[in-house]
Amino acid sequence: MQWIAAHQRKDGGWNFGFEETCRQCSNGGEHGSRIAATALALLPFLGAGYTHQADSPYKKLVDNGLFFLIKRSVEEQRGLALNHEGSQGMYSHGIASIVLCEAYAMSLQKQTKLSHAAQESLRFIENAQDRQGGGWRYRPNESPGDLSVSAWQIMALKSGKLAGLHVSQPTIYLANDFLESTAMDGGRRFNYLPDFNLRGTGPDSPKTSTATGLLLRMYLGWEPGDEMLDDGIATVAQWGPFNRKNDLSCNLYYVYYATLALHHYDNKYWKHWNSEIREFLIQTQSNRGHEAGSWYFPDHYCDTGGRLLNTVLAALILETPYRIMPLFRKPKQ
Ligand SMILES: [Zn+2]
Repeated sequence: MQWIAAHQRKDGGWNFGFEETCRQCSNGGEHGSRIAATALALLPFLGAGYTHQADSPYKKLVDNGLFFLIKRSVEEQRGLALNHEGSQGMYSHGIASIVLCEAYAMSLQKQTKLSHAAQESLRFIENAQDRQGGGWRYRPNESPGDLSVSAWQIMALKSGKLAGLHVSQPTIYLANDFLESTAMDGGRRFNYLPDFNLRGTGPDSPKTSTATGLLLRMYLGWEPGDEMLDDGIATVAQWGPFNRKNDLSCNLYYVYYATLALHHYDNKYWKHWNSEIREFLIQTQSNRGHEAGSWYFPDHYCDTGGRLLNTVLAALILETPYRIMPLFRKPKQ
């Protein structure tokens, strides 16, 4: 987290391509959205319980980051938009909306400005849903939705609901229909796009889609004991976190969703998975100069987000068991 903190810019935001501000660290990301970079960078801090109100060394960092996001947002008729940077804007919007909802939920004193921003960002998600298929894609109302972009929106809606904000039930029903349309084997596995025949060129390997789909299923109400869910989780546990044994590369995007899914499901697989991935991340963390404390794995998808995205995902994976953001708390705790 200190590495992430050291790469915050004066305006409170972050860049994926941080080479402009830091000439010492390699592997900046290619993606241009500062909203996405900033929202992602804030997630591990919120996850560890650092808010813009609670006294901590990161109070100012979180406060400035939130201020940056709100300043960049645009009030539209359909809600508060954070999707206007780049052609894959709904990614940025979903992640930023999660940050606003979680920061609001964890606030000691509820501020109207933040509650308004969080609520309005959710309204934008509702209005950007594909009315037919129920998913979300890069642009508002684009059809068909894909599982990767939809995941961030569904997590934002779930987070908003937990924070006591308004989320319309029809949106959730439709989102469920979308998940249903991406399910294979009755819901044991999931596909990146609704129709299996549609070729997905997205970031998601079948493993990532399956881990994402299973997690979202649980967020929308499936519980352990359901045969498809049980089978699906067993499959993910069997795949394990790595591409190959003794190979120091991995798709952190897949591991992120798989870790959340296994932790949420909470069973015999979790302990082994968690110790395996912890050991791996401790071993692969950079200890070179300014890069110390960060991670980078060359990967088709993660290259877009570069060292910042890799480091954020690694930090989120490591803090999964301790995370205190409402969205990631286990049910019935
Ligand atoms: Zn640096």
